[in-house]
Amino acid sequence: MEKALETYKKYQKKLQAYYYMMMIVGFDSSTIAPEGCFAKRGEHMAIVSEDLYKLETSEEYSNAIDILYKNIDQLDEVLQHEIKRIKRGIEKQKKIPMDEYLKFTELTAVSEQLWAKAKNNNDFESFRPTMEKIVEYWRKYLEWQESDEYKGFDILLEEHEKDYTSKEYDEFFNCLKEKLVPFVKKVVALPCPAKIDYSKYTISIQQQKAVCKAIEDIMCYDHVHGISAETEHPFTSGFGTYDVRYTNHFYEDNFVSSIYSAVHELGHATYELQCNPELDDTFSGGGCSMAMHESQSRFYENMIGRSREFVHLLVPVLEKYVPEIEWNEEDLYYYVNKPEMSYIRTEADELTYPLHIMLRYDLEKAMMSGELEVKDLPRVWNEKFKEYFGIEVPNVKVGCLQDVHWAGMSFGYFPTYALGSAYAAQFYNAMEKDIDIKKAVLSGTTKEINDWLKEHIHKYGSSKDPKDIMLLATGEEFNPNYYVDYLINKFSEMYNITE
Ligand SMILES: [Zn+2]
Repeated sequence: MEKALETYKKYQKKLQAYYYMMMIVGFDSSTIAPEGCFAKRGEHMAIVSEDLYKLETSEEYSNAIDILYKNIDQLDEVLQHEIKRIKRGIEKQKKIPMDEYLKFTELTAVSEQLWAKAKNNNDFESFRPTMEKIVEYWRKYLEWQESDEYKGFDILLEEHEKDYTSKEYDEFFNCLKEKLVPFVKKVVALPCPAKIDYSKYTISIQQQKAVCKAIEDIMCYDHVHGISAETEHPFTSGFGTYDVRYTNHFYEDNFVSSIYSAVHELGHATYELQCNPELDDTFSGGGCSMAMHESQSRFYENMIGRSREFVHLLVPVLEKYVPEIEWNEEDLYYYVNKPEMSYIRTEADELTYPLHIMLRYDLEKAMMSGELEVKDLPRVWNEKFKEYFGIEVPNVKVGCLQDVHWAGMSFGYFPTYALGSAYAAQFYNAMEKDIDIKKAVLSGTTKEINDWLKEHIHKYGSSKDPKDIMLLATGEEFNPNYYVDYLINKFSEMYNITE
């Protein structure tokens, strides 16, 4: 047992060193690496990846895990959680037949390119055979992974967010369907009261960068352990509490995009930076789950960033760095919160966003159960879209081919995006009992908010499951009503809706 623990810790340290180096190379590749390096870089990465695979699957390491698993009661709470999670991952991997796994890896190596081409050519038929193979693989995957505990689509849902299955998601999306869909239709039909339309302005990238720097200060970004860079699509990579990086993209004709991407990514970054540093370089460091991570970024982006108080902080920043434009607080507030029925999920506003996810959830569930076949996807997508959004989908490019997810990554991933927003609303409600959030923002920085999130969520890293963190932070199990109520209250106040 002593020996097994020692071996486990030795491997953990080694693996973490590899993961850290891979993170740095990945970040370099997507930001500043010269174009000419990639062929050679591919060769080097293949060598490193092979070594890493050998480490991850070595007999010494898996024996140590087996011994620790058999003596799990003797471990502390954090290690117990860690070993159970690792063991589960190994068991799941073993259930996939090797030849099927290799075939699937080959398929997904080319499927993204095929998808991108089909999307650009607006041609679903050219992607259909590939997508049929992908769906077929995942249906088989559900059979391989079936257990007494989880069956069907629940297996994939639960892999993306531990302990969350169609029971929780059905309740969540039914709540949206019943209350939110009719409300959204009502709101988008109302005229926007703002006088200045900020969409007509262009702002130089230099000026936008200065604004984003000021946002980093408002959000107390730790410049000793955090940096920022530019990429086509914004993202955050974190490693331990000592090296966190986020990226942004700047459009001259859409300054709101870089402002809210910064707030969103800084939310992810703050989560990573505020984990308990004792969990650094262990498998319990970093954010706890997909939805939990997204709950933090969306908490900052929407609940804090799109509040009147935060807009009040933004106005003097914009006046300082973009003095040529007239900044009106009320108009800017309406502009950054404008709800609109639109086709593209990634560009959707706070209010209509969950409807995009609900649509995908319905379709994934039907595809996994065999109820919906790939050949019927465009038609069913368009029908459902009309039902939820009230508008006709003109083509597959802005319809069922818009996201890369179904080209390989997985099914059951989309719902965590909406779940994250719902978690965030429940956290907001709990935080409000302890601090005056509006007053905290008006103080000029999010320090008090960061501190609350650190104490109730961030410090745990991934040493606990999402359901446990939810219970510890809010004293309740997940309840989707907080989210629906939050959206209805916010937009009813904005648009004077009384019933
Ligand atoms: Zn995010």
